[in-house]
Amino acid sequence: MEDVIRLLPDAIANQIAAGEVVQRPASIVKELLENSIDAQATSITLIVKEAGKTLVQVIDNGSGMSETDARLSFERHATSKIKKAEDLFNILTMGFRGEALASIAAVAQVELKTKRIEDTLGTYICIEGSQFKNQESIASADGTSLAIKNVFFNVPARRNFLKSNPVEMRHVLDEFNRVSLANPDIEFQLFHNDLEIHHLLSGKLSQRIVGIFGKNYRKQLATCQEETPLVNIRGYIGRPENAKKTRGEQFFFVNKRYIRHAYLNHAVITAYENLIPKDYHPFYVLFLEIDPVHIDINIHPTKTEVKFDDERSIYAIVQAAVRKALSVHHLSPMLDFEIDANFSGQTHANTAIQENPLYQGTNKSQGNSFPSSKSSNQIKQRASDWEKLYQDLQKDTPETNAHWAKNEDKESLTFESGVNQMGQDSLFKLSKENNAERPVFQLHRQYILSPVKSGLLLIHQTGAYERILYDKYKKQLVAPKNITQQLLFPIDIKLNASDFQLILEIEPEIRNLGFVFVVVEAQHLQLKGVPVGIHHENHLEIFEEFIEQFKNYQSNLEVTKLEMMARALAKRTAARMRVSLSGQEMNQLIDQLFASENPNYTPEGKAIFRSLSLHELDNLLATQN
Ligand code: ADP
Ligand code: MG
Repeated sequence: MEDVIRLLPDAIANQIAAGEVVQRPASIVKELLENSIDAQATSITLIVKEAGKTLVQVIDNGSGMSETDARLSFERHATSKIKKAEDLFNILTMGFRGEALASIAAVAQVELKTKRIEDTLGTYICIEGSQFKNQESIASADGTSLAIKNVFFNVPARRNFLKSNPVEMRHVLDEFNRVSLANPDIEFQLFHNDLEIHHLLSGKLSQRIVGIFGKNYRKQLATCQEETPLVNIRGYIGRPENAKKTRGEQFFFVNKRYIRHAYLNHAVITAYENLIPKDYHPFYVLFLEIDPVHIDINIHPTKTEVKFDDERSIYAIVQAAVRKALSVHHLSPMLDFEIDANFSGQTHANTAIQENPLYQGTNKSQGNSFPSSKSSNQIKQRASDWEKLYQDLQKDTPETNAHWAKNEDKESLTFESGVNQMGQDSLFKLSKENNAERPVFQLHRQYILSPVKSGLLLIHQTGAYERILYDKYKKQLVAPKNITQQLLFPIDIKLNASDFQLILEIEPEIRNLGFVFVVVEAQHLQLKGVPVGIHHENHLEIFEEFIEQFKNYQSNLEVTKLEMMARALAKRTAARMRVSLSGQEMNQLIDQLFASENPNYTPEGKAIFRSLSLHELDNLLATQN
């Protein structure tokens, strides 16, 4: 019998390796940017098209390559960065495996132009799927340009596996942000589909942070610095009050290499303990400088992990450094202060809903029966039960109303100021003059109470709005109608690059919702119209909150884009609806709520109303009597 083992041809070996190195266009971005940095470039331009699916190009003014090196650079394990095994323990460059270019060239069409300063002519090389197509001497600028076209052109399975452009572009931006943050002394430019997204001049770290994340970060940064024999720490942390619901703007760099490190992240978070509410994430960009002998970065080509030989000490130092920064900047509490008092309603208006007792424990008690997973029959059944309750009630309305009105009248003086006087007046009238209206009562702009035949109906006001608005926006997204209210004065919106990018990608849907805007220039929009029904005068805030909410969902939920949009806008608009309502408005709200397919739950699965039977109310007071 013949021997059966044979060595794989290089092209196939490279393609297999590419499976690890090149997962998506963003992986190419990372590898190319790091190569330019290793080549001592001081100016780097990244050009992507279709979120990198059709083109990722990096142009640098670094060392360039000789003709031979240019050709060799595409060979597997070809690297200029380490020579012997010991070098592995003293790595100061970003790359060292020598497999990136070989892997990329295995799964894409690659054009390289490179020239060293000392050469008169440069080299042009064209490779497709590991096959050399062309090589010639050409006139070119000093430095290197690598254009990677049509990634996975020869691996359809992987091409189909790529996510939508917005998702892929976010990955590209993540890589760009990491590399450019780590190298503020290098000038970076980023173009997407010919639009300039970033032009970051070389400067200080703080300038780089502001350049990437936007001008409003200027006031949010506190310096963090600590020098110890084991490790030096420097960088910036965000003020507690600027912590966000979305995780993401948290960066650790070890010797300028971006890493993810759950343990060290924990060190930072615990330093913020009691300063930010649960589920909020502080901003930080922290650089750790440590002798390479203490770390092992040789774990996996794409994993952003590093092993420290003395993790516990590093943890303690990081935590101490952040604590110090917080106290130096007077960002720490004097004594343990009440988080709720400081955060609800002010910086994070939306916590009102989350902290609402109505909602607490609903997830637990509902188990996993998220509304969408409930059979719609069951839901309809429930809804019609409620209608019946009301229908029955109408029969006894005159009496009940009379009671209600009388008691109301007597007791109104003892109510707290939060109660809507106007609401009571109109309620009083409505219930007297129009027996068709349900008796309703608004409590602290948060709850609507209404007597039903069996007892009392308790409705969460913003929860009800959220459901109704969600239904409306969902319809609107599927079959858009013209529902914009033009703004008298257009509002300028300045955005950071990634939010701007996101908005461009979801522009058609945002328009369908009723927002109208024009792009003045990159990262600068002018809002000219908002969806009808948004009464709050601060339209900018609504817009920004909506985008923030959308991003928040994007990272957490496994639902469609339209669903996320409808949810995001409904949630943010509804959060503003803690307002006084007239009796008529409350009645309308109840009508609309029960007209919904699913009045029981908000789109996120929180209960909207509960009925308390007389029996339950009796039990509630039984302990007293
Ligand atoms: P590694 O970065 O691990 O060495 P790569 O496959 O990324 O492996 O690159 C192979 C080699 O090609 C590098 O070691 C370097 O010598 C050369 N090279 C790649 N990109 C550039 C560039 N932009 N400028 C100069 N040389 C480069
Ligand atoms: Mg490399």
